[in-house]
Amino acid sequence: MDANQVMETDKKYYMPVFSRYPLVLTKGEGPYVYDANGKKYLDFLAGIAVNVVGHGHKKLVAAIAEQAAKLIHVSNLYHTIPQTTLAKTLAQLSGLDRVFFANSGAEANEGAIKLARKYGKTLNPDRVEIITTENCFHGRTLATLTATAQPKYQKGYEPLPQGFRYIPYNDIDALEKQVTDKTCAVILEPIQGEGGVNIPDAGYLEKAGEICRSRGALLVLDEIQTGMGRTGKLFAFQHTKLKPDIVTMAKGLGGGVPIGAFLATEKVASVFAPGDHGTTFGGNALATAAANAVLDIIAEERLLDNAESMGQYLLQTLRKLQAKYPALVTEVRGLGLMVGMKLTKPGKDIVNQCMDKGIIINCTAGDVLRFVPPLTIQKTHVDEMVSVLDSVLAKF
Ligand SMILES: *Cc1c(COP(=O)(O)O)cnc(C)c1O
Repeated sequence: MDANQVMETDKKYYMPVFSRYPLVLTKGEGPYVYDANGKKYLDFLAGIAVNVVGHGHKKLVAAIAEQAAKLIHVSNLYHTIPQTTLAKTLAQLSGLDRVFFANSGAEANEGAIKLARKYGKTLNPDRVEIITTENCFHGRTLATLTATAQPKYQKGYEPLPQGFRYIPYNDIDALEKQVTDKTCAVILEPIQGEGGVNIPDAGYLEKAGEICRSRGALLVLDEIQTGMGRTGKLFAFQHTKLKPDIVTMAKGLGGGVPIGAFLATEKVASVFAPGDHGTTFGGNALATAAANAVLDIIAEERLLDNAESMGQYLLQTLRKLQAKYPALVTEVRGLGLMVGMKLTKPGKDIVNQCMDKGIIINCTAGDVLRFVPPLTIQKTHVDEMVSVLDSVLAKF
């Protein structure tokens, strides 16, 4: 199939839920991807913060190939070495005690909600309420789209699961008022991703943790986008003194191979008994071998340091554009390689024009350009992306 045939066939056979760009991507190398016509694009979206080690990383490819040849999947009725290895590594790196593997972010959050509910009920049968924040994003399953406090994701799917309550993000007073003895958990993104790269004030997460602790509610951190080194630490909460009760992961965890996880303290995890939760695919040998390789690469190539230094450089460079186009750009914000540029108008056309010029970026929340490149990028890649963006912004 040539590119046009692919697009026509997709239009006919795939459910009409994605508004895709007219691009058929066929291969990738490092921070670049190539379309079916051989055109090269610098990828500053990285599969939406997924391809943390870039495309076609030799060590990741080899780990996947080796594991596929040995054993792709057995059920969770049996042990496998890569799954157990990953469980131990993630527990040690996070400071939490136990893990469960799922296949996606939504499933990780779904499991975290189930665990929090089960835990809450051990304290008090009415302790079932989950508090989330406006403009958050937690997934597309029924419980996680209900946790996602944005009407556009919920419309048409009612009746929604009960027991969810929404408060403004980055608002300690709202937490003080709304967390009660009916609250089983507060779920927060350390930085809101889909919601527009919204960074809370210093101290917000710690204070939220204290309020939860003092009222017996759990603090669940959704690190699906912020985890795996994205912000310059393996987990964004590691920039703070906070100790969360549950942490969820996905996106970058398998470097592109689908896998999610939720981690919890012993105290919380111990409310699960055999049969309380499960999955066929979750944490299979192939996916966990990939995640083990990604964690090895992050350590060997010092990608946390690189995310921090390249993140600084990206912020600096984008702030020069902000100074150059003050009528168009109102703020550049970010931590590590999770960076947003707030515009005074919708970002869609800017994204499209960058794409025509061989740069993949994304716009979220309507008017925030989002930059979440592979953690392997170098200064030359930042310069390449920013010079194209400069030429595009000049026309607006
Ligand atoms: C992407 C994302 C999810 C959902 O992950 P899926 O793998 O698409 O289900 C949940 N929470 C956050 C913060 C995300 O960025």
